[in-house]
Amino acid sequence: MTTSSPLTALDRDHLRRCVDLAREALDAGDEPFGSILVDDTGVEVFADRNRVSGGDHTQHPEFAIARWAVTHLTPAQRAQATVYTSGEHCPMCSAAHAWVGLDRIVYASSSEQLSQWHREWGIPAGPVASLPVNAVAPAVPVSGPDDELSEQVRALHARLLGV
Ligand SMILES: [Zn+2]
Repeated sequence: MTTSSPLTALDRDHLRRCVDLAREALDAGDEPFGSILVDDTGVEVFADRNRVSGGDHTQHPEFAIARWAVTHLTPAQRAQATVYTSGEHCPMCSAAHAWVGLDRIVYASSSEQLSQWHREWGIPAGPVASLPVNAVAPAVPVSGPDDELSEQVRALHARLLGV
């Protein structure tokens, strides 16, 4: 089901950073998701990772990025900013991304892949539907997944679940 995507070498560098953040989250007891915001010159301006271990399951890095962007970047800057992420945005984060007017999303692994892994491992579906970004935010350009990096993300989720 994984498709080849037109990711550039720079895209993949940014995605590797996201997978590192996802690993950092897992090592800290959170879920393995990491994301960065990159401006129109290709420079990382903000980064975060999942922080749900305290019990607030809205503490997703993509949501944090949307809120950071709306207070630190102009609408014009947001319209040229890209979010790189280890895992495709959930519906909450896709909506936040679109509401604040950010541009492209590049993900290492897709929501469809995560759902497939959970099915393989017998993990029940969560309370929020798994939808592709464009089902929630149809105008956002998306790229991904990446074959090699999505395997690394899969391994992190396997470690999280002890499978
Ligand atoms: Zn999310």
